[in-house]
Amino acid sequence: MTSVNETHTHEAPGLLEEANSRKNPRKRLSKWERQLEDYISSLTDVVQRIKREEGELRFSSSLIKASDVAGQYFCEKKVEMEHLQGKIETERKALGTEAHEKLLEGTIKIKRRDLWKKIYGKRPVFAWEMPLLAEYNAVVLAGRPDAIVFERGFPLVIFEYKFSKSRRPFRDHHVQTRTYGILLRNMGFDVRHLFYAIVMADPGAKDDRRLKREVIDAVIKSGPKESVLTTENARIHVSKFDQTEAEQDLDWAIGFWKSERDAIPTRNPNKCRSCEYNKKCDASPNVKGKD
Ligand code: SF4
Repeated sequence: MTSVNETHTHEAPGLLEEANSRKNPRKRLSKWERQLEDYISSLTDVVQRIKREEGELRFSSSLIKASDVAGQYFCEKKVEMEHLQGKIETERKALGTEAHEKLLEGTIKIKRRDLWKKIYGKRPVFAWEMPLLAEYNAVVLAGRPDAIVFERGFPLVIFEYKFSKSRRPFRDHHVQTRTYGILLRNMGFDVRHLFYAIVMADPGAKDDRRLKREVIDAVIKSGPKESVLTTENARIHVSKFDQTEAEQDLDWAIGFWKSERDAIPTRNPNKCRSCEYNKKCDASPNVKGKD
């Protein structure tokens, strides 16, 4: 029995905390729910801007895609041609699209809210083609990496597959994948443990159902840590995500979108030789009238 001098207590939210959370319903939300709420709010804002055609960036864009940022490091003039003249389908692009569709085989569609919840769950989760969107230095960035493995809310490895005869990734591949890292960070994820894996896969491996599993197993088994791993038909380049490097890449790329400079063409004639715009591009050595 309780005497008049005794009182009972139990763990409960403080009264002030409770009052504040009523004033500010966000306080009641868990970390992942707040993060998701912010993400949806940015997404809604960008969609509204696109609808109102209020894009303030070059080509009246409201956002910059990670793939375009990467493209700028291949040839900025080509990114401009794609926006002004439209994309031209090529055999290489068709193969890439087909191969990426195959990578999605065996995955299941999940609602955004359920995915976020799983990301912060105890078990590792693979998110394939997760749409990323965030602000960076007053511009909106967007991207869709092939896969990200998360554990307890931490993004651990971004996977980016490239189907090519080359076994070495180029700078634009690193730029694209690092931009995904900035997106994740600016969406509120803690990227301190983040690595990225660029998978240089043989084009013939697009039909190999084992490719996906072998790559994942090799990267997870290795740590992940900085390494170059080899599977039957791919070489995997695993790097630690470096925020400073990623920001430097992005800052240069954003200058173009803010119209601070004209598009810079590549100086590599080999790139022009295989470029689908080489007959129209005034910077191409193949354009008639040029010596
Ligand atoms: S032709 Fe050369 S400079 Fe022109 S867009 Fe293509 S790669 Fe760039």
